Amino acid sequence: MKFILTITILILLQSCAKKEKKVVTTTPETWKGKGFTYYRAGYLKPNSGIGRRGDNFIYAPKIRFPLAYPNAYINSQVYGVGGLYGQKGNLCDKRNYSYPWRDNYCEKRTHGMPLCPAGVGHQGVDIRAKDCRDNFHYAVAVEEGIITYIGSYSIKLRGKSGRTYRYLHLNSDSIQVRRGQRVWRGQKIGRVSNNMGKTKTSIHLHFDIKETIRFGNYSKSVYIPPYTSLVDAYKRLLMGRP
Ligand SMILES: [Zn+2]
Repeated sequence: MKFILTITILILLQSCAKKEKKVVTTTPETWKGKGFTYYRAGYLKPNSGIGRRGDNFIYAPKIRFPLAYPNAYINSQVYGVGGLYGQKGNLCDKRNYSYPWRDNYCEKRTHGMPLCPAGVGHQGVDIRAKDCRDNFHYAVAVEEGIITYIGSYSIKLRGKSGRTYRYLHLNSDSIQVRRGQRVWRGQKIGRVSNNMGKTKTSIHLHFDIKETIRFGNYSKSVYIPPYTSLVDAYKRLLMGRP
């Protein structure tokens, strides 16, 4: 029942999100005490795509933040400083390593994305670690589960909740898990890098979440919005109870 309700809300929210105007600026939310600020879910960097504005539902409640410790910065790799469509500059520019966070789920891409207003987009969010050091900062398991896949630059973790989490761009030699291994919440997986198989990307963790959800009379496994769950997880991490 709760599940069906959730999906109904989700579909309603999606139709709301579709009606919103293209470019909206908003004031970042400030979070008391720890200096953490963030734009709300769906407020992507202007002209980088259309996010799910107005949808603040936490799709993956109580997950652990996927990086071992703060600070961490969710923002666009492509539209950030030094990115393909971003301001000219160094990828390690301090503007990339500063708050406020910016959601980049649904950012312009060609992947089919049923939950993105454009029907296509970025499957998850990109997260920079504390600083630009390569192969130094650890990504960790967001919940207890099994490692189901290890590819050239992607790792999949199937959590007890049934959701599948994907970690991309970790340094291959730093991987501390193997396929079929059970991991606990917070267990180290590998170190954040710029690995994209034969090519390289910027130094960041791409993190996404897949879940099977119902659309009317059929079910489909889709990438769900991760940003609100990560804001929530990050606040817990900052408070020292991840
Ligand atoms: Zn990404």
